[in-house]
Amino acid sequence: MGLACEQASRPVHSVTLLVVTKTFPAEDVRAAFLAGETRFGENYVQEGLDKIAALADLRSQIEWHMIGPLQSNKTRPVAEQFDWVHSVDRLKIAQRLSDQRPAHLPPLQLCLQVNISGESTKSGLMPDEVLEVARAVAALPRVQLRGLMAIPEPAESLASQREPHHALARLLQQLQGQGLALDTLSMGMSGDLEAAILEGSTIVRVGSAIFGQRQRPAPSASGDSAPSLS
Ligand SMILES: *Cc1c(COP(=O)(O)O)cnc(C)c1O
Repeated sequence: MGLACEQASRPVHSVTLLVVTKTFPAEDVRAAFLAGETRFGENYVQEGLDKIAALADLRSQIEWHMIGPLQSNKTRPVAEQFDWVHSVDRLKIAQRLSDQRPAHLPPLQLCLQVNISGESTKSGLMPDEVLEVARAVAALPRVQLRGLMAIPEPAESLASQREPHHALARLLQQLQGQGLALDTLSMGMSGDLEAAILEGSTIVRVGSAIFGQRQRPAPSASGDSAPSLS
């Protein structure tokens, strides 16, 4: 990541590393915390809640980010336990998160997920829907809209990886031009973080480049944590 920032002529502190811990057990998260990481991303609500509980002693020192698809019947524990949600793909989800965010906690930090490659199978808002939803989300009382998130299709060359990241960055600029105070581009994973950083990513979400390949598909919402891979 340092090298990617250097190549993009960006200061390394301008990009935040979110360590994606899905399928890895809480003890691996603890080890990463002891090595200095403080921001962790989870894809599945129950798996994330289990790790937050297992690491309750570190709760005040860790930022927990939900980055996976969120169904409306699962919003309450997310509103109560997480710090960020990157995967908001409709207004209803944001409204529920705002309604359910406890008053003693700071506002939940949100990104809108955008289907930037325009595939019908992918989750996320279509780019032309984003402005209207962003305006409505920004007006909710107990959440703070921070920016946009995307998971572009994998691509081989740096140039083709840059295209969707560039499009997401332009979309953020358009929203800023409409008066929305946004500062976050959540884009870039292990396979495309150089391209994302070149295009202005402010949060890269990295799993396998840190922990190695996940050995099995991520669990469904069952809540089991993965066996130790070490
Ligand atoms: C799994 C995942 C990541 C991390 O992917 P790696 O390729 O392991 O770095 C990032 N973002 C989301 C939304 C993910 O589901």
